[in-house]
Amino acid sequence: MSARRPEAVDPRGRCVPEAGSVLVPGASGNVGARHVHSLTPRRASLMQEPVLVLNATYEPINVTAVRRAMVLLLKGVAQAEEVHNAEVHSTAHAHKVPSVIRLLAYRHIPQQSRALSRKNILLRDRNTCQFCGKIFPSSELTLDHVMPRSRGGRSSWENLVACCYRCNNDKGDRTPEEAGLKLARKPRPFTLHTSRQLMRLIGHRDERWRKYLFY
Ligand SMILES: [Zn+2]
Repeated sequence: MSARRPEAVDPRGRCVPEAGSVLVPGASGNVGARHVHSLTPRRASLMQEPVLVLNATYEPINVTAVRRAMVLLLKGVAQAEEVHNAEVHSTAHAHKVPSVIRLLAYRHIPQQSRALSRKNILLRDRNTCQFCGKIFPSSELTLDHVMPRSRGGRSSWENLVACCYRCNNDKGDRTPEEAGLKLARKPRPFTLHTSRQLMRLIGHRDERWRKYLFY
């Protein structure tokens, strides 16, 4: 079976899809979508809450959104391990909102590196401008080539950082040294450490995640 685009949070710093999609064969269909879409707008934000996805072996492999997790549950490819007290009502049924789900079939996580994407760079840098150190919504951040592209700087994990528009403007086609800016930290690829840490950060508010992440 072929792997999808690797994207979000993976305990081994490997390939995992972005929140909102998960590495499950045949899980891309819209079975269950009608249930989810029939939710009242009041529940819309609840549907974006993060859900920890475990492999069949209970190893944490990803973080997805409630909406996506519900589809996996309704399709029968995953089961809920932990749930919130809240319920969502579809046309015929009430469903407990999942907090942690587990895939029923073991999913091999391919040994390929995480996709270099804007989303993953922002995730690595925790939406923090690496020059002024302020946190911004994703829409107010851009990617900066530390060594400018015009001077041979590559688009790589080591040369791309999250940057606010103001700092990006200030820096222009210069190196940080030339522009009198200092990097908050040296940019690196995702690692096992980074991924697990990110999962913990995302799951910080939810006690139910602890036993799967803190061991
Ligand atoms: Zn900045």
